[in-house]
Amino acid sequence: MTVRTRFAPSPTGHVHIGNIRAAIYNWLFARRAGGKYLLRIEDTDRERSTPEAVEAVHAALRWLAIEPDEPPMYQSTRREAHLAAAEKLLSSGRAYREDKGGTGKGECVIFRMPGTDMRFHDEIKGDLVKPAADLKDFVIVRSDGSPVFHLANVVDDIAMGVTHVIRGDDHIENTYRHVALFEALGAPAPRYAHLPMIVNAQGKPYSKRDGAAYVGEFRERGFLADALFNYLALLGWSPGGDRELLSRAEMIELFDFARVQSSPAQFDLRKLLWMNGEYMRRLPLAEREAQHLADLARHGLAPADTAYARRVFEIMGDRIKLFTDTAAQTVYFFTEDYPVDDRAFRKAMAREGAQEHLAEIARRLATAPSFAAADLENLVRAYGEERGVKIGQLVHPLRAAVSGTDVGPGLFEMLETLGRERVAARIARALDRARALAAPAHD
Ligand code: GLU
Repeated sequence: MTVRTRFAPSPTGHVHIGNIRAAIYNWLFARRAGGKYLLRIEDTDRERSTPEAVEAVHAALRWLAIEPDEPPMYQSTRREAHLAAAEKLLSSGRAYREDKGGTGKGECVIFRMPGTDMRFHDEIKGDLVKPAADLKDFVIVRSDGSPVFHLANVVDDIAMGVTHVIRGDDHIENTYRHVALFEALGAPAPRYAHLPMIVNAQGKPYSKRDGAAYVGEFRERGFLADALFNYLALLGWSPGGDRELLSRAEMIELFDFARVQSSPAQFDLRKLLWMNGEYMRRLPLAEREAQHLADLARHGLAPADTAYARRVFEIMGDRIKLFTDTAAQTVYFFTEDYPVDDRAFRKAMAREGAQEHLAEIARRLATAPSFAAADLENLVRAYGEERGVKIGQLVHPLRAAVSGTDVGPGLFEMLETLGRERVAARIARALDRARALAAPAHD
């Protein structure tokens, strides 16, 4: 049997990360089995399934490089086949017509459940069963002649020769009905793997309210497709050991439903950011620099001196986790008009003797024979020892004075990179600012 999986989204305009994770698992499983991974666009809701909404699905798959192995099936083109299947069920007695609610508006086609308990084996959740009493007959064609999701979904899976249905566990309840439909249509039911839900920190379904929830948003935020792929692949699946960064080839090699957890998987943006940073670091240097520079240019900070910018990126090390955060995190290297974090500034300047120390360090920096990071560090340490103050009392005010913030690269590398003149001017301005803050307000 050749494995055939499919991703079957209903286009809404946005592709939720839970959905795309299902696509990723379908892709990994098919690749692992040497089978085919297919796409069916379930676009029967004409109002939501606009051309733009359908394009959003294709764009997400293209960006993540998980496009289907065969041309996609568009469910809206399959109405004849769905209705033919309903006719078949009517003639075999597995379905009947009924004027639901007796409105006289016409008859629906209703599928007759077999009246037995329904069970199926799920590759992730194990053996599942639902008692006959909880499984009522259900509509498969509405009175307006339109096929219902259950019918269309099953008929199309049969037509596509799908062997494994891998989807969110919100479909488990549907599956008892689908299994009955497969049987009534004389087709073997596929194997099922229902994926755990993605939840927020409170254990509730992860949604828009929790932050970025759609593939397009992660893309716009500057996440790398490979990082998002890797993160989502591991959101509910463990490749074993504590490995977290894996190439696609490795993931294909290791993918196994036995290691997919059945309980909900918690979305952790910090971990995704970390992973994105790791993927950034693995890019060729030239590409990394080009992406950092592009972000600076987007923020009107395009540097005249590329060598200087390179040095900035270098000392930032792995602190930048998104190319799109480059400007925000390095702004003070590229303009004198950088924002000052008021809280951080006040806090640093409130340290005992901060201003006095700053003024004296500034005097020493002005005449320092070398402005190399290691020498600057020695200079500040020597001053601290001389005055009997801990280095922490000196570095925080110094950092706030020259960058306006309390986060950034190593202070001494930062001073070296900024250079003697900028450092001197900024400390002088910071001291003015600190004095103004301390002076009583007058009207
Ligand atoms: N269109 C359905 C969904 O997006 C189909 C699910 C499926 O069978 O994979 O939830």
